[in-house]
Amino acid sequence: MASENTRILTGWGRTAPGMSSKLELPINSDWPAMLKALSSGVVARGLGRSYNDAAQLSGGSFIDTTIWNHVLHFDPATGILKIEAGASLDQIMREFSGAGFFVPVTPGTRQVTIGGAIACDVHGKNHHKDGSFTDHVLSIDLATPNGVITLKKDDSPELFNATCGGMGLTGVILSAELRLLPIESSYVKVDTDRTNNIDEVMSLMEDEDHKYRYSVAWVDSLARGSSLGRAVLTRGDHASIDDLDGQHLKAPLEFKPKTIISAPDIFPSGILNSLTIKAFNELWYRKSPKKEVGAIHHAASFFHPLDIVGKWNRIYGPKGFVQYQYVVPFGKEEVVKDSLELLARNRAGSFLTVLKRFGRANGGLMSFPMEGWTLALDLPVGSAGLPALFDRLDEMVIEAGGRVYLAKDARVSKNHLRLMYPRLDEFRQILDSINPLRTLQSDLSRRLGI
Ligand SMILES: Cc1cc2nc3c(=O)[nH]c(=O)nc-3n(C[C@H](O)[C@H](O)[C@H](O)COP(=O)(O)OP(=O)(O)OC[C@H]3O[C@@H](n4cnc5c(N)ncnc54)[C@H](O)[C@@H]3O)c2cc1C
Repeated sequence: MASENTRILTGWGRTAPGMSSKLELPINSDWPAMLKALSSGVVARGLGRSYNDAAQLSGGSFIDTTIWNHVLHFDPATGILKIEAGASLDQIMREFSGAGFFVPVTPGTRQVTIGGAIACDVHGKNHHKDGSFTDHVLSIDLATPNGVITLKKDDSPELFNATCGGMGLTGVILSAELRLLPIESSYVKVDTDRTNNIDEVMSLMEDEDHKYRYSVAWVDSLARGSSLGRAVLTRGDHASIDDLDGQHLKAPLEFKPKTIISAPDIFPSGILNSLTIKAFNELWYRKSPKKEVGAIHHAASFFHPLDIVGKWNRIYGPKGFVQYQYVVPFGKEEVVKDSLELLARNRAGSFLTVLKRFGRANGGLMSFPMEGWTLALDLPVGSAGLPALFDRLDEMVIEAGGRVYLAKDARVSKNHLRLMYPRLDEFRQILDSINPLRTLQSDLSRRLGI
């Protein structure tokens, strides 16, 4: 039987709180009856790592999916895993690393559920090589108001492509089958390059990213003039046994990372400002090696350096922060430069600024990745000029034929959404047939009129 209570929810950025009723439902519920009974609407919520309002529904209910976390089937010969949708990437890494398998795609945190990874079609540092998460998903069990449907890319391409990146609006993902990546160790062999400016880092990435499975650049958002966009580029691949020696060979496949501290909820808003961020950026840039080849890092510290501090989002204070991530096609490099100029000129310090290159888009109607450059910015809420700065960035992105990432969005307009996602009408038509009453909805889908 369902237990129900009310919660104030936010996304990871801690902006836009909304009150929703929590539902803990058995995975084998009578879904059509259950969803039809939820007339004020419902949204699935995983670990709440989307940044704003995608996993909450003010005045409605949310289904806590994290109680569904069982492994249903695993074939070590093929690496194919069937698992319930509330299981996290962290759980998969801990359970399957020892058997020599890793997730095929991981975002910058492993505290993400399978359902959240499919609904946002998340990407990692390997998009240029391996595509996004749903490129590795073979089937999805989806609960809809019409019943539970098993979706496969080839058998039901329309609904599969609407669900991958569909922000949970086509139904509740109950479980999925995905192909894991075989690894010899839970270490990564990493090359680092510190570059003097944005031109240098972009040309290094263009020329050499194809040699690496993983590539990501941290960018100093406040550097100006000839240092505009100075960066630290880290690239690598899973280390083979032959790459390891000494200490690393004792337990090469061990994956047991710890969270060493949890940030207390005592930080006032404003601690992260252009001065503190400038100081941090200077330190980070200087402490990084100018050039390093073949350093061995544990996968947890390479992929998820932020996960070592629990609840680190609290350091932005009670007003929270906004992540703004866009992608623009190759050939529109000037947008990356111009947006860094705009930030530096406005002294809008982004604490974590990350540049990556995406490979080809998949069929996801609302999937974010497309071939090109993606830049992610973290900006503390509070500065009066911020809304106008974001609007200007939107215009630059649209003019270049790009888009922003809905998993991080807090403020894009309906009109801009239509220009950024050309398949939005197709997506809406599918919702009209699968979710006609918009039983599945969220504060994000209401805000954007999806
Ligand atoms: C530190 C940090 C780093 C990040 N780095 C990246 C990155 O590198 N790349 C990237 O792509 N993203 C990144 N993200 C965003 C994150 O990967 C996505 O928002 C992801 O969807 C969060 O998963 P979740 O389980 O927390 O989902 P939630 O935030 O709980 O939900 C996100 C969306 O998925 C839907 N959903 C969740 N579960 C289900 C389900 N079972 N059925 C149907 N719909 C469901 C929700 O309704 C909502 O629309 C990062 C986030 C953080 C906090």
